[in-house]
Amino acid sequence: MQTQIQIKLTPSEAADSNDLLKAISQITGQPKEAIKGYHIHKKSIDARSRQQIWVNLSIRVFINEPPANRFIEPLHFPVLTPSSKEVIIIGAGPAGLFAALECIQLGIRPIVVERGKDVRSRRRDLAKLNKEGFVNPESNYCFGEGGAGTYSDGKLYTRSNKRGSIDKILRLFYQFGAEETILYEAHPHIGTNKLPHIITAMREQIEASGGKVLFEKKLVDFIIEKDQIKEIITSDGDRIKANAVILATGHSARDIFTLLFEKNISIEAKPFALGVRVEHPQAIIDAIQYHCLLRDPNLPPASYSLVEQVSERGVFSFCMCPGGIIAPAATAPGEIVVNGWSPSKRDNPYANSGMVVQIDIPTAAQFLKNNKTSLPDHHPLLLLAFQQQVEQASFALGGGLQVAPAARLVDFCTNQLSSSLPDASYLPGLMAAPLQEALPNFVHKTLQEGFKVFGKKMKGYYTNDAIVVATESRTSSPVRIPREADTLHHPQIKNLYPCGEGAGYAGGIVSAAMDGQKLAQQIALGYGISIPNSL
Ligand SMILES: Cc1cc2nc3c(=O)[nH]c(=O)nc-3n(C[C@H](O)[C@H](O)[C@H](O)COP(=O)(O)OP(=O)(O)OC[C@H]3O[C@@H](n4cnc5c(N)ncnc54)[C@H](O)[C@@H]3O)c2cc1C
Repeated sequence: MQTQIQIKLTPSEAADSNDLLKAISQITGQPKEAIKGYHIHKKSIDARSRQQIWVNLSIRVFINEPPANRFIEPLHFPVLTPSSKEVIIIGAGPAGLFAALECIQLGIRPIVVERGKDVRSRRRDLAKLNKEGFVNPESNYCFGEGGAGTYSDGKLYTRSNKRGSIDKILRLFYQFGAEETILYEAHPHIGTNKLPHIITAMREQIEASGGKVLFEKKLVDFIIEKDQIKEIITSDGDRIKANAVILATGHSARDIFTLLFEKNISIEAKPFALGVRVEHPQAIIDAIQYHCLLRDPNLPPASYSLVEQVSERGVFSFCMCPGGIIAPAATAPGEIVVNGWSPSKRDNPYANSGMVVQIDIPTAAQFLKNNKTSLPDHHPLLLLAFQQQVEQASFALGGGLQVAPAARLVDFCTNQLSSSLPDASYLPGLMAAPLQEALPNFVHKTLQEGFKVFGKKMKGYYTNDAIVVATESRTSSPVRIPREADTLHHPQIKNLYPCGEGAGYAGGIVSAAMDGQKLAQQIALGYGISIPNSL
């Protein structure tokens, strides 16, 4: 017999398999010996009460019968035949890789063209970036195998559950090497140390099935005839014939947005968010969220999610990384961009989060005008120009290379120059600076007000033991590449399929991956291939 139960346990009970079995036995009314196994289906932490933190579990219990295999079967990837139809995929980020895996399941050969390096070679460039502040414009935290998703935090939650099957994405991550916990944790997380192996395993599957992944090959032009891309041209001079092209180049491929603009392929400015990254000692966040002096070792480092409306402008936390590191995420020298990641154990002593403000087109246009940048208000690259100017201003204010400008939190909110900075996780180094000189006035003021409100919501958050670092600017794409709602191709170029975060259809690993799958299915339909129910 099988039964589904809900259990509420203290963190130490939930961490102890004997206590858990005892609780299952009590709730089902069955002796321990009758419980032959159980699967955890959902696990979440409820820290709302000041008296007691609870772990809520939803569990399938197998009574007097052997536990079933948790998964039906691993998803199957066939070996493609020489006659298989082909798709060119530009970009090996989550959107491109999951599109490629879906293509294979549909019998289509993916040819993935990636400007960056494989994960192993990419790691050396990241070490150089962190140690020497040297930004390689082709190999960095955004460009290379796995895209911005590889050396990311690997948080796998999304609110975009209508865009596709989140379960299938999680199942694929699990199949290629992620821990089983991602299948049931309320906030699944992989960690930067584990993602590279998983991404490599995905690429090896693509190759084993007969697909191709070509590294250090950058798309630089298209040959277009009669509204169709006939060939793509890469930086090494290669020309590759194209039937269908999935463009999954991410939000940092500024040269791609410029290429589309110059070729009169329609693109649009898209509102996004920009601000700073704030870092607290993790112990402060734990104390606030878990109402304690010292975190129970059975609880994970605490996280938070904050949102507020200040003077009719949204300010919110973004990509919060408990036990994490602030990363230099610039894609070109002369700019400072920060983001965050954490290892699977989240055992660094810092908690960082983006804290960003909504940027709309009229305000960005006014800012550019004030800074004597002559772009018309309706220019599709207007928000990109805004984003770039702020990143360059942050560089000018920093200490050279990737040394980022920073301030203590209360100093930032009261316009004081910090006389010293505390230890921080950002490896290229920080320099105390007046951040209002790099941030647009409206962003600076909104953040100041926002932090004060957040300090009231989380007592202890508004402290000079925290620092803010400028700039957190690559929250989503500042450009949208339009596509038809039904066919999903570009309105002008009928075999160009804009995909993922860079095209404006995703905001994170899972939603980018789902978008890639969706486009692969649409292309298959165009090739006359029907989509099996199993997909
Ligand atoms: C440090 C960091 C931490 C993050 N943490 C999280 C997290 O915890 N959870 C989450 O959901 N999201 C996180 N993100 C965001 C997430 O990584 C992105 O949303 C996601 O990777 C977008 O997927 P994508 O495939 O659309 O684009 P990308 O991942 O940006 O991939 C685009 C790929 O295209 C390639 N490319 C660009 N131009 C060309 C060209 N001309 N020719 C060939 N190839 C090209 C790039 O090299 C890149 O590999 C993080 C990002 C960073 C940088």
